[in-house]
Amino acid sequence: MAAKRPITVAKGDGIGPEIMDATLHILFEAGAAIEPEFIEIGEKVYLAGHSAGITEEAWESLRRTKVFLKAPITTPQGGGYKSLNVTTRKTLGLYANVRPAVSYHPFIPSKHPNMNVVIVRENEEDLYAGIEYQQTPDVVQAIKLISRPGSERIIRYAFEYARTYGRKKVTCFTKDNIMKLSDGLFHRVFDEIAAEYPDIEAEHWIVDIGMAKMADTPEQFDVIVMPNLYGDIASDIVAQIAGSVGLAGSANIGEQCAMFEAIHGSAPRRAGQGIANPSGLLHGAIMMLVHIGQYDVATRVHNAWLRTIEDGIFTYDIAKDRPSVGTMEFARAVVERLGKKPEQLQPVDYTGAEKREVRAEAPARPVEVVSSRELVGVDVFLYNAELSAADLGAKVEALGTDELSLVMVDNRGVKVYPDGFPETFCSDQWRCRFEAPDGRSVTPGAVRDLLSRIEDAGFEWVKVENLYRFDGKPVYSLGQGQ
Ligand code: NAD
Repeated sequence: MAAKRPITVAKGDGIGPEIMDATLHILFEAGAAIEPEFIEIGEKVYLAGHSAGITEEAWESLRRTKVFLKAPITTPQGGGYKSLNVTTRKTLGLYANVRPAVSYHPFIPSKHPNMNVVIVRENEEDLYAGIEYQQTPDVVQAIKLISRPGSERIIRYAFEYARTYGRKKVTCFTKDNIMKLSDGLFHRVFDEIAAEYPDIEAEHWIVDIGMAKMADTPEQFDVIVMPNLYGDIASDIVAQIAGSVGLAGSANIGEQCAMFEAIHGSAPRRAGQGIANPSGLLHGAIMMLVHIGQYDVATRVHNAWLRTIEDGIFTYDIAKDRPSVGTMEFARAVVERLGKKPEQLQPVDYTGAEKREVRAEAPARPVEVVSSRELVGVDVFLYNAELSAADLGAKVEALGTDELSLVMVDNRGVKVYPDGFPETFCSDQWRCRFEAPDGRSVTPGAVRDLLSRIEDAGFEWVKVENLYRFDGKPVYSLGQGQ
């Protein structure tokens, strides 16, 4: 008998304790060599005065065991702690969120009987970096942060995953026709890394039409890699069209730690009734067993679950108008089928998967080197609720010098000076772009002088963004008409 692997387990809130008990029952009956350390996280911990929803001891357990099986938690609405999921993913460096969505038709009806898609979602960056500001009464900003190393790691992970699991194609979704720099970087890195995997087909879709196609003909996709927000939305869609969000599990993988969970939430209205479906968490647990190298147990559990579904044993959410069983009854049905395989659905086999650990190693090719960086201008954001675009533009233009002169003023990304349209709606926040004439570079001192003149003229600046040229190319979004 292998030594038992310590894992950290949180039973969570709402239906969490019920589906966790059912899942652990199946794992132990299947012979999983695991030793759970239970931690409390979520609502109770928050209400007990730990503002992050997690205690020091819980972090200590997570950092020691490095494997976390987590039931859903309730996130307080309209305040309270930040999403504990986001905090856990970022604090433990869990950069890859892997969410398989498989159809079990005809046992679980789906309009897409042949779909078998894996979403690989970037898990730490994008709008989930959580960098938000209110700068003026009218305007709030969230920063969409995409880094080259973050993109390289997740995209490489997607290709390694495809190669390891014998998948044929990796598709990338971005919106780089609009977000040319941020999504543009993700797409560019995708093309670079795809070239290192000639055995795997690579394609890119603009996210909106890509998701429409995915919802219509998901069987045409295989592995899909996406920045964080698109991946969050897309993975719920694929889970739902495969059969139900209640079935899908997810793995959050980092270099040192990993977290496994269901994709659904704590369903508080169903709590305490013993009717919730433990399948999503069980699928997360199966991914955990593969991650910790207990391949034969993962295979036994997964095949027994498939057989249970084939035998028509369902919780209420899947049964619809067919007879249903409760959470623990479902778990016992899976246990009764341990050692059996499905007869019509495709059985799984994780054994011999020692080679299957997906690793996104550091890039093999040289990283992009920037040999020259020049400061060429500045965007100064002003708060002003009184002046018209024309009046504000004229006053600000007068503050320019030979070194830094006004190029344009825009409002919510639309140019309003010079030559603005009276029809354009203006908020109380104005972006004033100053650049050095004739493409010269400027000194930080010139920017400070400009800010002083702006203050002396009675304007309030709320944010400043430097404009750079890297290797002779502007690396900021151009204003309208520039
Ligand atoms: P939810 O996924 O908890 O539930 C939506 C509905 O789906 C439920 O009312 C229920 O009818 C059904 N459902 C979900 N899981 C089920 C299961 N296992 N068996 C049977 N039916 C199931 O979504 P929600 O109601 O929007 O969120 C509830 C709470 O969960 C919120 O506080 C939210 O923040 C939190 N949440 C947590 C996580 C997580 O911890 N990973 C993820 C999503 C939401």
